Amino acid sequence: MKVYSKRLEISQAVANLRKTSKTIGFVPTMGALHKGHASLIDFALEQQCDSVIVSIFVNPTQFNNKEDLKHYPRTLEADLDFLKPYGDKIIVFTPDAQEVYGDEVKSKDYNFQGLDKVMEGAFRPGHFEGVGTVLSHLFTIVKPDKAFFGEKDFQQLQIIRKLVEIEAIPVEIIGAPINRNDDGLAESSRNQRLTPEYREAAPFIYKTLRQVKADFSIKSIEDLKSWVIEQFAAHELLKLEYFEIADPHTLKSAKNDQKSGDFRAFIAVFAGDVRLIDTLALT
Ligand code: AMP
Repeated sequence: MKVYSKRLEISQAVANLRKTSKTIGFVPTMGALHKGHASLIDFALEQQCDSVIVSIFVNPTQFNNKEDLKHYPRTLEADLDFLKPYGDKIIVFTPDAQEVYGDEVKSKDYNFQGLDKVMEGAFRPGHFEGVGTVLSHLFTIVKPDKAFFGEKDFQQLQIIRKLVEIEAIPVEIIGAPINRNDDGLAESSRNQRLTPEYREAAPFIYKTLRQVKADFSIKSIEDLKSWVIEQFAAHELLKLEYFEIADPHTLKSAKNDQKSGDFRAFIAVFAGDVRLIDTLALT
């Protein structure tokens, strides 16, 4: 397994792969790798990719909260061990901020046509401009044929689709299913920061989403939203930040009397100071 930290090295490695006209996939991550990331890499390798580039880079511009950036887990040695079994099927890119951004570590201005103003965007101002900027740089460096993103960050996935449209980047964006623990909790790098007590409580998030799905055909959207708010208000440990039922394409909030079309539930919850998100298709 090759590991490169310089943009010139990775560009050269990708150029070499191209000589044998291979399909090159890309899985960008912020490290602290877990089964969810592995499922994404496996998915990429199964989707007609001969090789997959996995980047590990904690992108400073997407953190609106400095404390969150400071506490974000950085476990490079363990991450490289985790990836070793993939051998030469993957190439790992571990740049620093200078390699990705050059001297100006800042976000570009984007017009994501409102996709970035709701849910995560509303609670994390500037987050998606940071995500868009880092991916724009990474796509320019790696030049993959296909790039893979987890549906766990569903809003991010839709914004990246918009990004490649806006910047006319020639890459196919592919969403991959959410990988969950046996108790339903979505895998996340942040889970390792949960105390045993919060870890035990956290599957309540997915359980609530499952119930919303079960009740979707019999309850109004307003009633479902109120029910979720009540569930978390009564919970001793978990604090709801938002719960939304929205159109998965436009991310616009569903109207109360609207029941035809596609719907997806989105949730953000604090387990102590650890912020967890999840999402589930309702239709
Ligand atoms: P992150 O390192 O958290 O930025 O995530 C890197 C990529 O892995 C993103 O495309 C995420 O959506 C994806 N990902 C994170 N957790 C999961 C999961 N539990 N299942 C599937 N994909 C995931």
